[in-house]
Amino acid sequence: MRQPAVWILLASLSAAPAGAFTRSRDPDTRACLWWETRQVRVLLNEACSADLPRAQCETAVWASLAIWNEAPCSDFQFLSGGLSSRTDVGFDEDHWDDNVNLILWTESSWRHDETAIAMTTTTYDRHTGQVVDTDVELNGLSYTFTAIESPNVIVDIQNTLAHEAGHMLGLDHSSDPEACMFATAPEGETKKRDLAQDDIDGVCHIYPTGQPIAACPGGPAIDPGGDGGCGQMPRSSGPSALIWLLALGAIILRSRTHVSDS
Ligand SMILES: [Zn+2]
Repeated sequence: MRQPAVWILLASLSAAPAGAFTRSRDPDTRACLWWETRQVRVLLNEACSADLPRAQCETAVWASLAIWNEAPCSDFQFLSGGLSSRTDVGFDEDHWDDNVNLILWTESSWRHDETAIAMTTTTYDRHTGQVVDTDVELNGLSYTFTAIESPNVIVDIQNTLAHEAGHMLGLDHSSDPEACMFATAPEGETKKRDLAQDDIDGVCHIYPTGQPIAACPGGPAIDPGGDGGCGQMPRSSGPSALIWLLALGAIILRSRTHVSDS
């Protein structure tokens, strides 16, 4: 059972009505983030997590992405790109075609908030919001990860990565405490393995099956994929300032004072 402190926290974060998914936006231009392609290929670093057998880890990773592919009203798909020796997070503008979308565990030298279980870094055109790259780092230094086969749930891989995958496709945190995209997760949680209706509403809003990308109220007027082009970013048209890195605060573990041990 949760202690009252949890519910105070949830109440303060869920003041908005349910159905409260939000799109990730550039903090200055207010452009919403979106992918031109509806099929985003993701690679997994071959080490996966040091906390469990690689096969269990890998299965959990791909299951986390696949949950988003099942939203019936969206044609957005994550594709499994298999294992990779790559470890580079971010975007190399000098080798545009060499960039990959990567998931990797960091077992030492975690460079983000130590309470963050994971961090998604997305690179996009800050004037249009078009995403060109997204990578997820998992904090193997501070946390012990587990999968379905593990005897005890500690930090569940699917619970964590399903949430990060929502960031990868362009969703920000939801105020719906039942949503996969809710910002926090107590240790041992597994309910974010599955999408809530709010999450389904979010991906279907951005990427409705057979329909254009959703408009972005309050953002700059854009024409996704306009001019009938091939969907490539206008590589030669902008200085590097066009590309912006957005580090999305991932799931933050609630401090232990907010999690009941009883
Ligand atoms: Zn998050």
